[in-house]
Amino acid sequence: MSGPTLFERIIAREIPSDIVYEDADFIAIKDISPKAPIHLLVIPKKVTARVDEIAEPLEMGQLWLTAVKVARQHAQDYRLLVNCGQGGGQVVFHTHIHVLAGWESGPDSD
Ligand code: 5GP
Repeated sequence: MSGPTLFERIIAREIPSDIVYEDADFIAIKDISPKAPIHLLVIPKKVTARVDEIAEPLEMGQLWLTAVKVARQHAQDYRLLVNCGQGGGQVVFHTHIHVLAGWESGPDSD
C-alpha cells in the first residue's frame, strides 16, 4: 500500500503549503523550492500519477484551463511545464502543472 501522495496530504491540510487557488477539482500552491520568481503548482484533486494517465479530454482540458487561469492571476506572460515520469524529471507522482513566471525579460534572463 503506497498511501496518499504528498499533494493529497497538502490538499487535506496535513502538510502546510501556501495555497493560491482552490476550487472543487483543483488546488494551486507555491512551489517549496521555486525555480522562477513565481513558481506555482496546479494540481488536480483527482489523483493520477502522471499527466498521460488522464484519459478524459474534459479532465485534461479542465486541468490546462485551470493552469492558464491561475497563471493569468499572477502574470501576463508565463511558462507552463509538465515533467512526465522519472526520465522526464518528475519527482512527485501526482499529476501537476508547473506555472513559472516573473522573470525580468524571459526565462533565460536570470
Ligand atoms: P516534479 O519534479 O515532480 O514535476 O515537481 C515536483 C515539485 O514539487 C518540485 O518543484 C518541488 O520543489 C515541489 N515540492 C516538493 N515537495 C513539496 C512540498 O512539500 N511543498 C510544496 N509546496 N512543493 C513541493
